[in-house]
Amino acid sequence: MQDAPGRPRRRGLLRLLVGAAAVAIGATAMTVAAHAEVTRTSAVAAAADCSAGYVALTFDDGPTTGTTNQLISTLRSAGATATVFPTGQNASNNPSLMQAYKNAGLQIGNHSWDHPHLITMSQSQMQSQLSRTQQAIQQTAGVTPAVFRPPYGETNATLKSVASSLGLREVIWDVDSQDWNNVSASQIRQAASRLTNGQLILMHDWPAATIQALPGILQDLQARNLCTGHISPSTGRAVAPSGTNPGGGTGGCTVSVARGSEWPDRFNVNLSVSGSTTWSVRITLNGGQSLQNSWNASVTGTTGTLTARPNGAGNSFGITVYKNGNTTTPTASCSVS
Ligand code: ZN
Repeated sequence: MQDAPGRPRRRGLLRLLVGAAAVAIGATAMTVAAHAEVTRTSAVAAAADCSAGYVALTFDDGPTTGTTNQLISTLRSAGATATVFPTGQNASNNPSLMQAYKNAGLQIGNHSWDHPHLITMSQSQMQSQLSRTQQAIQQTAGVTPAVFRPPYGETNATLKSVASSLGLREVIWDVDSQDWNNVSASQIRQAASRLTNGQLILMHDWPAATIQALPGILQDLQARNLCTGHISPSTGRAVAPSGTNPGGGTGGCTVSVARGSEWPDRFNVNLSVSGSTTWSVRITLNGGQSLQNSWNASVTGTTGTLTARPNGAGNSFGITVYKNGNTTTPTASCSVS
C-alpha cells in the first residue's frame, strides 16, 4: 500500500474533469443536504444516525487549488466532517484554503513538509520536516495538529519518537481507497463501503474521482448509521468530533455505540458521549433483552428504554445486556439535561 506521491501532473485535464464532476455532483448533493437538515433539527435524531459508530475520512496532500473548495462544500452540504493531512509546503502556499479547512470544522493533521521518504532521513531531518509543518499549520489555520500521517505510510521507531516528541500521534489507515492509483469514483466508493466503526480511510485532496465519489460515500455511510468523526490523538481511532468543533453541531450532544465483549448469553455495549458533560442518554434495548450490569454511569430501567446519566466517571460508560435470544445491538440517543 502506498500513499500518493502528491500533486496532479495534468492540471488542465484535471480542471476539466473537476468541472464536469461538479455538475454531476450538484443534484446528488442537494438530496443529501435536504436530509442532513432534517436530522440536524433534532439532537435525538442526529444521534440515532450514529448508532453504528464513527469513521474517519482522511484527505492527504492538500490544500490544492481547484479541488479543496469542492471537497469542503460537499462535506458541508452533507453535514459531514473529515481529517485533512496537508503538507507544510502546501499549507504555507495556500493560507486561505487552510482557513477554509479550519472554518469547515475539519481536523487538521501533519503530513511532513514536502512529502519525502522520511525513513531514509536522519533524525534531525525528520524533526525539521515535522516541526516546520506544525509551524506552517499554526500560522495559516491557527491550530496545532495532534495527529501525523507519514507520507507513503512509511515509518520506523525513530520517526515515531520524533512525532511523539512534538505531541503528534502517528496514524496510518485501515482502508486504502487507492484513489492515488487512478481508480474510478465507483471503486473509491466501494472501498469506503468496507469501513467499520473506528476505522480510517486513506483518500487524497486532489483526485477528481475522489471529489466525484464523496457524495455517494456520505450517502452510504448514512444508510449504515455510521457518522463521520475525527481521529482521537489518544487512541488513533475515529471518534465523534469534539463539541468545540464548528462542524460538530451546536449545543447538543452525540453518543456513539460500540459492541464490546461477547458471551453466549450476553454482550457488552460501550457508549461515549461528546458535546456535553450534563447529558442524558436513552438506550433502546431490543425485544427480549434485559440489563445485567452497567459501569461509569447511573442507569435506570432494565428492559425497553433505559436512561443513563453521568455519575462523575466521565463521558464513556457501558452496559452488559442479556440477549434472551436477541443479538441485535441496542441503539442510543443523547440529549443535554
Ligand atoms: Zn501523501
